[in-house]
Amino acid sequence: MNEVQGFILETVGIRGTLVRLEETWEQVVAAHDYTPAVRTLLGEGVVAAVLLASGLKSTPSVSLQLQSEGPLKLLLIQCTDGQRVRGMASFKPAAQEVPLLGEGRMVVNLDTGKPNGFFQGIVPLASSKLDECLEAYFNQSEQLETRLILKTHEQRVAGLLLQVLPGHGERQSTDDFEAAAACAATVSAVELTDLPAEELLPKLFVGHAIRLFAARPVSHDCRCTPERLAGVVQMLGADEVKTLLAEQGHVELKCEFCNRAFRYDSAQAQAILAGTPQISSSVH
Ligand SMILES: [Zn+2]
Repeated sequence: MNEVQGFILETVGIRGTLVRLEETWEQVVAAHDYTPAVRTLLGEGVVAAVLLASGLKSTPSVSLQLQSEGPLKLLLIQCTDGQRVRGMASFKPAAQEVPLLGEGRMVVNLDTGKPNGFFQGIVPLASSKLDECLEAYFNQSEQLETRLILKTHEQRVAGLLLQVLPGHGERQSTDDFEAAAACAATVSAVELTDLPAEELLPKLFVGHAIRLFAARPVSHDCRCTPERLAGVVQMLGADEVKTLLAEQGHVELKCEFCNRAFRYDSAQAQAILAGTPQISSSVH
């Protein structure tokens, strides 16, 4: 189960999205030695990025970034067209009881690929819980009442988003939204991660007419290539590249998302620096 599925509570004008991931989560964290808490946060971050993308009609790219003074230094999740995701985290060791998220901020970039279609939202981290930080983001940036729940159970991570449908704001009483949100809040981790939508939604939103859309797959796709990493060689600069070539005979870079290594020999590195790359780098 690696999918995103939208639904509408028709009588009250509320849209919802369900995201459930299993293998995709495993693939995102597989190449790194993350602690259980970081694995969970990454899983929740991937679900959150898919939820952020879900409300937009056309979204080639969504990125979710958390920067914190806590043990988690940086979390970066990207979701591109067709719900293809990748993510990475950098963190410092800390006692288990210290929350990963400290003071910090959340940066959300939405890029529709159209002229003037780039949007950036930045909010302070309002809580040590990712779902509460995201709610603060939605309420501030979209100004539509939003409720968000993230849960993990064993090998699965899942999320549920409820939001007032745009244009429904005035016609709808806040009570309707609060009532639906209260129903959603009763969901258990097992229900949210395991139950099919056809079973889960009527159970949560009793008495509502529910329109359920087709599920779409979410997959892990890093998209790193020797050509893309060549930009990093350029950023290292001529001096650093020269030093690396003298010490190791090549420049080796690792993709920070999937940990794949790319090796550039002297001629390739020089060509990249000169701006005439003809790359056929070896992959290790
Ligand atoms: Zn990669």
